[in-house]
Amino acid sequence: MEKYVKMLREKNLKVTPQRLIILKYLNEHSTHPATDKIYQDLKINNPSLSKTTVYNSLEILEKHGIIQSITISGLEHRYDFRHEMHHHFLCKKCGRIIDIDVVCPNLGKMLECGHNVEEVHGYFKGICKKCMNKEKIKDGS
Ligand SMILES: [Zn+2]
Ligand SMILES: [Zn+2]
Repeated sequence: MEKYVKMLREKNLKVTPQRLIILKYLNEHSTHPATDKIYQDLKINNPSLSKTTVYNSLEILEKHGIIQSITISGLEHRYDFRHEMHHHFLCKKCGRIIDIDVVCPNLGKMLECGHNVEEVHGYFKGICKKCMNKEKIKDGS
């Protein structure tokens, strides 16, 4: 938990047990969970946790750049412990969101223009490798 305490202190944020368990959860679940999922999973061991607290905590953590949210599915915010620039791939079949580490080719041009780019979101969509392999096995039989 010390790591998470440090992350909050670095941003001058109050260290609360709720914020700590949310950070720990996100660090351990790199599946880009939505607010509901985070709340449901954490509530099992923290019955007093309210959905509003989860919602508010996520918002504050995101605002201070500790976590990031993505809206790749278009319906909901999905949260990500990794806050450095990276892109995402959404599998239309299984719904998995996978981290993609490719450098944005437009970033250099933006910086040349003198803009200060703080976030770059690349959303790729299609069928993931796992689902492709499943399809192949089905076709072969
Ligand atoms: Zn898939
Ligand atoms: Zn990610």
